[in-house]
Amino acid sequence: MPGAIAEVAAVAAALGLAAGGFAYASLWPASQIFGRTLIAGEDGDEVALTFDDGPNDAATPQLLEVLARHGVRATFFNMGNFARERPEIVKQVAAAGHVLGNHSMSHPRLSTEPAARIRQELVECNALLEDITGLAVKFFRPPFGARRPAVLRAARELGLTPVMWNVTGYDWNPIGVEGILSNLENGIAQNRRDGRGSNLLLHDGGHRGMGAERMDTVRAVDRLLETRRGTATRFVTVDAWTTAATA
Ligand SMILES: [Zn+2]
Repeated sequence: MPGAIAEVAAVAAALGLAAGGFAYASLWPASQIFGRTLIAGEDGDEVALTFDDGPNDAATPQLLEVLARHGVRATFFNMGNFARERPEIVKQVAAAGHVLGNHSMSHPRLSTEPAARIRQELVECNALLEDITGLAVKFFRPPFGARRPAVLRAARELGLTPVMWNVTGYDWNPIGVEGILSNLENGIAQNRRDGRGSNLLLHDGGHRGMGAERMDTVRAVDRLLETRRGTATRFVTVDAWTTAATA
């Protein structure tokens, strides 16, 4: 369990929220203690595929092909530095109807950076993505998931909704297609039992450099979409859950 999610649980417990309300703790006004973030809605059949650290010429085009073949849209949190290197891939992501979000320019640990640097990382990434696609950027995922009030404040000042996750693929570890897939399946099953949607954290890139090897992630996504075909599962983009976030 990522530290940030544990933090949500701890605050939810401290506020005396029922276990069933845990998933929404971060969407509730009471949770302004650490800032509102978007995780998922309350429909266990809804699953959002989210991909961080792209664009990546070694995996993003292949991933786009898989998603297109299955007719599924996903959410991509791009790094500005990589978007500047590969604007044509960013354009393809947007043209295919996927949602593009801000993942900062250079992937610093924002929680330890001064406010001016945080703002600069977010503003520059937004401007770059908007220049490339002509579309407004509305979502932000903090690098390393490191949420701090200053980071969330900077995001909200730019009109960005911070987005966390509730299923981790751990696809940065060498666990292979089967390992990634079982992390995703177990997480989705647990969320269904708890009556909430699943927000899956995956990576189409690697923050240390262009060309990260992510084909196991692409194959795991292909398998997941294959298995879910014809089931009740609906793949959504994170904007499907914004109504709850603003309630
Ligand atoms: Zn990242």
